[in-house]
Amino acid sequence: LFYFCFSMLLRPSPSVLKDAVLIRELFSSPRARILPVTRDLRVPIVPGVDRTSPPKLAWTGANVNSGTYTWDKAILLGFDGRMEEDSAASVLFAVVLDQEAKALSSAEYKTHKWIDPIHIFATGPSLEASVVLMARSYAHFHSHHGFCHMCGAKTEWLIGGHRRTCPSCKNKVRPPLSPVVIALVTHEDKCLIGRQRAFPPTMYSLLAGFVGRRPPSCNVVLNPPNPPLLTEPGETIQEAASREIFEEAGLQADNQSFCMFGGSQPWPFSASLMVGCHVKAKTTEIVLDKDELEDARWVSKAQVVEALRSPALLVPGITNDKVSLVRPPAIANTMLSHWANAL
Ligand SMILES: [Zn+2]
Repeated sequence: LFYFCFSMLLRPSPSVLKDAVLIRELFSSPRARILPVTRDLRVPIVPGVDRTSPPKLAWTGANVNSGTYTWDKAILLGFDGRMEEDSAASVLFAVVLDQEAKALSSAEYKTHKWIDPIHIFATGPSLEASVVLMARSYAHFHSHHGFCHMCGAKTEWLIGGHRRTCPSCKNKVRPPLSPVVIALVTHEDKCLIGRQRAFPPTMYSLLAGFVGRRPPSCNVVLNPPNPPLLTEPGETIQEAASREIFEEAGLQADNQSFCMFGGSQPWPFSASLMVGCHVKAKTTEIVLDKDELEDARWVSKAQVVEALRSPALLVPGITNDKVSLVRPPAIANTMLSHWANAL
């Protein structure tokens, strides 16, 4: 299987994260590379890079910026796994700035372009993509969990930046992560693609939805011939996939056909983890939930192969309008590619 993976960032172990002396030492060493993240979750890139090459993150070092960033407010992201044998790996940190990118004023900040991490992610799996996904997730976590959800007291930063703690009730606050099921729904030689209104024009993807969370617009379905399991938290990936395709497209899944896809993808733009699966549909008549999807349609393997081969090329859909598929490195693209190219 081809699956999406980030393998070049070595994450710190729990024992490293508990070792304040080590983190302090690493932060002030020449091996430290620091990525600032603004309050509006933007990261700096090196300007003037060729437009066709992926953006390069503008790292800085603690020794260069002594006093600007402090070790006890730094997020230890991990180590650069691309190191040569016998060489010292760079230690990667992120720091969260108080200002939004547009409010930055120092000359150093003005030498960089500050971009949304999704632009780095969209260039494909790389150390940089892994780093910005992680840095954005933790920066978002710290800016949204300043108060304890148990007792309401102000929370405090824990060394290493992976947790916060409540000094009043001792609650440890972790970054929340919502599992999202993304389903390749097939029927014979066709698969289901859909688009939300927020997507770029003509772009289609696979159907996806949060596990254990139902949209407010979704009412209990009365007496469907083969009712999907309408569960709240506690449902399985299988149940979530079955429910989502019924709610959004009115299709019934053959639950016996369910299988997990060999991959998943962190998606920090809503603090979620996409989990891929393959489901065969028992029915083919699409009944759209217009609150969720603007359109959904069946497309043939040949159409998917064509669209994947030339992502910029718009492939005629079943009707006369145009369809293009979500681009790499989105897991939906990987799943479609695997299905369409399988013998
Ligand atoms: Zn508390």
